[in-house]
Parts: sequence; C-alpha cells; structure tokens
Amino acid sequence: MTNSAAGQPDAVVIVGAGHAGGTLAALLRQQQFDGAITVVGEEPDPPYHRPPLSKKFTDDSMIQWLKPPDFYAANDIELLLGVRAIRIDPDGRRVHLDNGEYRRYGTVVIATGATPRKLMVPGGDAAGVMSLRTIADAQALGNAFERAHSLAVIGGGYVGMEVAAVARSTGIAVVVIEREGRILSRVASAQLSEWLTEYHRSKGTHVITDFGVAGFRTAEGDVTAVEATDGTVVPCDFALVGVGAVPNVELAQQCGVACDGGILVDRVGRTNVPGVLAIGDVTRRQHDALDGRYRLESIPSAVEQAKHAAAVIGRGDPGSHETPWFWSDQFDLKLKIAGLLEEGSTTVARLGDSSAAFALFHLRTDGTVCAVETANSPKDFMGGKKLIASRVPVDPVALADPRVSLRDVLATSPAIGG
Ligand code: FAD
Ligand code: NAP
Repeated sequence: MTNSAAGQPDAVVIVGAGHAGGTLAALLRQQQFDGAITVVGEEPDPPYHRPPLSKKFTDDSMIQWLKPPDFYAANDIELLLGVRAIRIDPDGRRVHLDNGEYRRYGTVVIATGATPRKLMVPGGDAAGVMSLRTIADAQALGNAFERAHSLAVIGGGYVGMEVAAVARSTGIAVVVIEREGRILSRVASAQLSEWLTEYHRSKGTHVITDFGVAGFRTAEGDVTAVEATDGTVVPCDFALVGVGAVPNVELAQQCGVACDGGILVDRVGRTNVPGVLAIGDVTRRQHDALDGRYRLESIPSAVEQAKHAAAVIGRGDPGSHETPWFWSDQFDLKLKIAGLLEEGSTTVARLGDSSAAFALFHLRTDGTVCAVETANSPKDFMGGKKLIASRVPVDPVALADPRVSLRDVLATSPAIGG
C-alpha cells in the first residue's frame, strides 16, 4: 500500500474529480494551500465541463477541460483517474480506494455528484435507451444521432429539452414524454413551461405530458418504441432518459455522515462528521437566502460550494451566498433563471424587443422578488438577480414597462411614486 500524504495532518483528499472537486483543488493551490492534495475520480478523464454534453454533443467543441490536463501535476495535485473511493474511515482518517491503496487525510471532501435516475421498466436496459452524464454518454449519444431518424426523450427536464433542441436542429423527429402536466415542472414556472413548450412545438417537436412510461418495446435487443401506461405506443430509433439525477451518497452514509435527499451540510459544507466536508450536486445545504436545505444542481452552486470549502480548509472567510441561478441553451434561446419560485407568488411579465426576449418576475405578496426567469434578456437577468438579493419591494406596473429601468422600479422610487 502507498500513502503519499502520510504524516501531513492537513492533507486534503477530494473524492470526485467533477466540477466541484476540480474547482476546489485549483482554488486551494491558488490560495497558497501548501498541504498535500489528492483528487480521486472514477471517470477516466480529468475534470471537465458537463454543460456542453447536452448542447454540443454533435460537434468538436463538446470536450472542455476545467483546467488544462497538465495543470494538476504542475501544481503538485495528485490526480487519480479511473480510481474509485470505496470507504472513508473517519477514525483512522483514511480514504480507501478500489486499487487497494489508501490516502490519509486531515480533511476529506466528498464531491461525488449524482447519477442519472434509471427507469425501472421492462426494456429499460435495451440497446438504444440512453442516459447522459459523462463524456462517454455524450459520445454514445452523438453516435446515435448519426444513424437515427427518430428520438423519444423521456423526461422534460433540462437534459431532455436541451437534447430535444439539438435533435430538431439536426432534423431528427423528436417526441418529448413528460410524466407531469408540464415540462420543466421542477425548475420553471407554469408560464415559462407553457411558452417553452409552444416554442419547441413550433420547431416541430412533439411534446406529450401526463404520460406514464410502462416500458420499452424492443426487437433483437434494440429499442423500437416507448409504451405508455394507457397503451399508447411511441415508435423511436432510440430513447434518451432524462428523469433526474440521484445524489451519490453511499460513501457518506457508510461513514456515518447524515444524509436525507443528499448529504446534509451547513452553509459552508461541513457535515456532522469532523474532518468530512461535502460539496456540489451531492449536497443538500443551508443557504443564507433560503429557509431549509436545498440540493441545487448547477455549476454556480458547485463553484460556490468549492469556494466555501476552500475557505474552511484555509481558515479564510467563506463570505455570503450568491442568489442561486441557472441557465439553459435551447435552440436560439438563452434562458437564465435566478432565485427560487415560491408558492403564492404572482408573475409580472416584462417583454423585450422580440417575441423570444422577455423576463418573468415572480413577486411575493410583500412586493419583493423571489425569482426571475429570462429568455434572451441578460440585462433583466442581472437586474432581477440584484432585486432578489436586495429584498426591496418593487412596483409591478413599473416592472412590466420595459421603458422603465430596473433601477427605477422600487416601490419607493420617485420614478414610480410621481
Ligand atoms: P459531477 O460533475 O457529477 O462530478 C462528480 C464526479 O465524482 C463524477 O466524475 C463521478 O464519477 C465521481 N465519483 C462519484 N463517486 C465516486 C467515488 N466513489 N470515487 C471517485 N469518484 C467518484 N449546470 C448548469 O449550471 N448549467 C448547465 O447548462 C448545465 N448543463 C448540464 C448538462 C448535463 C448533460 C449535465 C449532466 C449536467 C449539467 N449541469 C449544468 C449540471 C452541472 O454539470 C452539475 O451541477 C455539476 O457538474 C456538479 O458538479 P459536481 O462536481 O458536484 O458533480
Ligand atoms: P430534472 O431537471 O430533474 O428533470 C427530470 C424531469 O423528468 C422532470 O421534469 C421529471 O418530472 C421528469 N420525470 C421524472 N420521472 C419521469 C418518468 N418516469 N417519466 C417521464 N418523466 C419523468 O433532471 P434531468 O433533466 O434529468 O437532469 C439531470 C441533471 O442534470 C440535473 O442535475 C440537472 O440539473 C442537470 N442538468 C442541468 C442543466 C442546466 O442547468 N441547463 C442541463 C442539463 C442537465 P418530476 O418533476 O415529476 O420529477
């Protein structure tokens, strides 16, 4: 057995070489942390950007490294690829690996991300039924696009709608099948869902809601159709399943870390076990601006959590939380969302200079903004994000008028009060 970090109490072991883990390793070195750093990743590739996997999987720009591959060695970061961490021993402060080795740690950071949820239905493992999380998945999807003429997308979430948009743009017939009454029900307002559904339909995508998948029909092991619980059959050459991602909590659970729909962490990534932090998609965390705990699955959230963990490890100031935000590219639409939707909020639309440019502001009963959803409207996104953070009531009439600057929409603003 080897133990390159032995004897260094401040050694950091990061489990998961994804966006959060890779960012943390780089930040630690940037902030002059001089202890040993090991990053353990079960994928064969160094940390990379996942967003292009669902947007650019048909072109050469799909693979985008987080840092140049030689960055890690140049910065004295031990990067173990194709290696899985199988056990954390909090008493002995060791991380055990599936190659028989272990690494000692002062701090271990669990950044294990999430795994696409599987549809446990007949035919669910047939050839041509795909999911999307890794470079290998995206390459398989790209290959399927070269051969196929029709695609069934199961799940109208971000993965599904982004892949559906690429498919239509390349001339493939697409049916999106959503279990709920509307697409993007987890992340978008009913108004945005409805508008986006029509936009996809205008591009030729068939969107079906309230559709329970009973199974996949196959011929000689290959998928040929999706079958609904009501007997409806949707023929397809291949299917993409995008029905959510399940947090990879097993390692945490085994070593006594509290989990409940994700690893439970405080506002800076500390778990209930001393010396064990967790960051990224795998966590359900406290957030300054939100009540309760949230699992925020996004790049901005992964980066923010990496920054906080770096501050905890380096004994620096973690600072406050950014308003959560998300983005998605579908056809020519740049969608950007800030904040989280709240029950009982009312919506104010602010229209832009084309039918595909607008902002939907969601207001609490006290007039403060809880969320803004924008399409091709970066100014409204930036302004809306500031309004959310300010927690100042706004005037809905001024807000709806695109001629009024967002700086002048506050309920107390002289521009509104007269
Ligand atoms: P991941 O990036 O998933 O990394 C976790 C890593 O840990 C994985 O490589 C995994 O193999 C590894 N691992 C797990 N268990 C172990 C173990 N036991 N030992 C060793 N390694 C292990 N977000 C946006 O904000 N905008 C977007 O447009 C966007 N597009 C996306 C498109 C796709 C197709 C996908 C899948 C995600 C997208 N996201 C987007 C979400 C974003 O990529 C994630 O929020 C982000 O990658 C989370 O980072 P993470 O490090 O927590 O997890
Ligand atoms: P998601 O955003 O959770 O969406 C999954 C969708 O599938 C939901 O609308 C869900 O409806 C639906 N669904 C669940 N079970 C179903 C079933 N049996 N039949 C039909 N529909 C079903 O997850 P995702 O789109 O799969 O994305 C996976 C991960 O990648 C997430 O972490 C996501 O945030 C990330 N991602 C992000 C982006 C981005 O930010 N732009 C892009 C791609 C991927 P319910 O609401 O009923 O569960």
